[in-house]
Amino acid sequence: MKIQEADAKQLLRAQGLPVPPGTVARSVSEADAAADMYLKDGADAVVVKAQVLVGGRGKAGGVKLARTREEADAAASAILGMSIKGITVRKILVGPAADIVKEFYLGAILDRASHRIVVMASAEGGVEIEEVAKRDPSLILRESAHPLLGLADWQARKLAFGLGLAGPRVKAFTAIAHGLVRTMLADDADLVEVNPLAIVRERDAEGNVVERLLCLDAKIVLDDSALPRHPDLEALRDLDEEDPTDVEARKHDLSFIRLDGTIGCMVNGAGLAMTTMDLVKRAGGEPANFLDIGGGARADKVASAMKLILDDSKVQAILVNIFGGITRGDEVAKGLIEARAQQSRDVPMVVRIVGTNAEEAQRLLREARFETAATLDEAAEKAVAAAKAVGGAA
Ligand code: GDP
Ligand code: MN
Repeated sequence: MKIQEADAKQLLRAQGLPVPPGTVARSVSEADAAADMYLKDGADAVVVKAQVLVGGRGKAGGVKLARTREEADAAASAILGMSIKGITVRKILVGPAADIVKEFYLGAILDRASHRIVVMASAEGGVEIEEVAKRDPSLILRESAHPLLGLADWQARKLAFGLGLAGPRVKAFTAIAHGLVRTMLADDADLVEVNPLAIVRERDAEGNVVERLLCLDAKIVLDDSALPRHPDLEALRDLDEEDPTDVEARKHDLSFIRLDGTIGCMVNGAGLAMTTMDLVKRAGGEPANFLDIGGGARADKVASAMKLILDDSKVQAILVNIFGGITRGDEVAKGLIEARAQQSRDVPMVVRIVGTNAEEAQRLLREARFETAATLDEAAEKAVAAAKAVGGAA
């Protein structure tokens, strides 16, 4: 799960990282009030930033600097409601603008290949790191954290020296690198990225110009599977930006992934769902989705799953494959009958149910005139044939 920059910065702040202050505004007047506050507080300018879960906001015009309240008003008006990569901006972050001397990239990712947290740094900051990786991968420095000992100080220093940092800035940098790793662990994140990490010029209390490192942007991707351990992080989910299908699937505790084909699949168990998709392909069809209704699914859950499948207009046939264990075949059959009574359109369906209460399921399905199949191969072939018949007639 991706979280918004303002929330990601809050998580970095909680780990003691240097992050500029900011206020989230949902309207121009809220933005004006925030800008006013920072300008009165002594900021030379404010930065107004679109809060959307995509990168490249700067390039798209979603990051603007403003020196006065009027300019801030204009920036907020321009950004709120703007579309960035197809997403409408509903919130903006307003904060004191930083005076940037140099921008770096710093990120920590969970590297599944090495099973370690890898910290990446580059002197090519501010631009999208994927572009740097494509142009010249040697510009990205990497150090992997030991699973028990973490990122060693010498590794963090090596990155700092690699970026050309020297003097007291090395220590500031290593503290931030360690903070990123801490954030990864504390919040069960898959990615914590600060781009840019910037050297900024500021005035201290006596009015002297000082430079320091500051996290000007933050991107965090949390591990979905770990969210049950973090109810406070789950609350950061931004429903404004989620695919309504995903929201619906999560509400009913279904694992659902939409694909491009025409055969809707309803299966219990992730492994069985994969196998079912394979067999659909072998029978010459293309699955329209991956759907695991989970163990012990009852009738209402089956009906919700059916609705998700049918909401996809590409679906021309449905294959139901249930291996009853904890899940009872008769419950699934009841769910299918209930779902068909309510469903928005009529699509050929082939059902294969084996295992717990399969006989009762067969009886119910026969009575309701469902097409059934004894084996998975047969079910896949029938579903593909039915979809082709529909497709051909259309
Ligand atoms: P992204 O484009 O979505 O990654 O958004 P960023 O927050 O990284 O902002 C993009 C760029 O805007 C940064 O690389 C900076 O060059 C610039 N920027 C962001 N915040 C500030 C700021 O406070 N002051 C100045 N001068 N530039 C900023
Ligand atoms: Mn950025």
